[in-house]
Amino acid sequence: MSDDLSYVQPTINSPWGTYLSQVDRVVPYLGNLARWVETLKRPKRALIVDVPIEMDDGTIAHFEGYRVQHNMSRGPGKGGVRFHPDVTLEEVMALSAWMTVKTAAVNLPYGGAKGGIRVDPKKLSQQELEKVTRRYTSEIGIIIGPQQDIPAPDVNTNAQIMAWMMDTYSMNVGGTATGVVTGKPLHLGGSLGRVKATGRGVFVTGREAARRLKMDLRGARVAVQGFGNVGSVAAELFAEAGAKIVAVQDHTGTIVNANGLDLKTLLPLARAEGVVGFKGGDVVANDSFWDVACDILIPAALEGQLTAERARKTQAKLVLEGANGPTVPAADDILAERGVLVVPDVICNAGGVTVSYFEWVQDFSSFFWDEDEINQRLDRIMMNALNQIWDTADRHRITLRTATFAVACERILMARQERGLYP
Ligand code: GLU
Repeated sequence: MSDDLSYVQPTINSPWGTYLSQVDRVVPYLGNLARWVETLKRPKRALIVDVPIEMDDGTIAHFEGYRVQHNMSRGPGKGGVRFHPDVTLEEVMALSAWMTVKTAAVNLPYGGAKGGIRVDPKKLSQQELEKVTRRYTSEIGIIIGPQQDIPAPDVNTNAQIMAWMMDTYSMNVGGTATGVVTGKPLHLGGSLGRVKATGRGVFVTGREAARRLKMDLRGARVAVQGFGNVGSVAAELFAEAGAKIVAVQDHTGTIVNANGLDLKTLLPLARAEGVVGFKGGDVVANDSFWDVACDILIPAALEGQLTAERARKTQAKLVLEGANGPTVPAADDILAERGVLVVPDVICNAGGVTVSYFEWVQDFSSFFWDEDEINQRLDRIMMNALNQIWDTADRHRITLRTATFAVACERILMARQERGLYP
């Protein structure tokens, strides 16, 4: 027994509150390892940094940055960095914890970490963005490293930002440390297949779930929330498999077309300016996205989107969590009662970190694989993990989320126990 954390007061649907309730649900399946469960309910280490930069107009701006290392029992910390005006310490804690569970679920030799800066990158010039990135990297440089904690892209961060992070860290240590971040540009130690890996993993797990539900992907209707690196790639792969993308929502609004949106024209437009200017669909109110007629729902935006109310009205039979933490616990219960299958984030979107792992391994060996090899290994790891989770779910008659937590938390807490407490 221990006291609650003083620096965060989780509320019911907050990301950290959601994570804690997911952990509580797994305790009955942990056997003697439950003794260690408290370790999952607090981050190992959390750093808050000030990120001051000189703006283009000569003023000085300060941004708040975070890096949270939730758990390192199974290996170095691993997880992305997001730039978003609403980022908080509590959110980054939850995201770091989900990374711990995710890396363990697919059995990568990592712990979990996450970072963020409370900033709206759309309001920064390219030069300001570079300054923010470099100063943040320098500030968290005392706790990251190829063997300590390896950042990667997340919401609003990309290969260019990873290149600046790699360069800043390298300059500070006096070398070229490609293994300090993943998701880098190809010619700087990046890996083929990394950009599409998260969306690909969503597709691979979704295809298997559909097969088990006896749902034919040809003609299946798919609704996607969030049309960034995860949602748009998943949509493309589902469309290639014959599915119809009937609704897409992004930060500009929601478009629908019951006959399927034409992705070839939508994708470039969405990347440039968002989805609402698209002529091949109807713009509808954002709230209508949640009860659109569809078979598969892919929340691939931010946390807490699938609320109880939205879970009650969705027509989907399958939910694929491209985002981290999109479903609140009450919604999970409603979906389970309604017989809607949820492939949880901690396995569904693990494709990104899996290819990040390949990138890190390739950087260490300075030997690079071709894309076929990467995709084959990715598919194999995701399918093995999913099958094991499915067996666990069937054995205990629990949801895929609780089963994923059961498989992952057993690995994490076993490592914790074997390492023992120091001193
Ligand atoms: N940001 C991604 C995630 O949430 C990838 C993290 C990584 O590659 O380390 O899983």
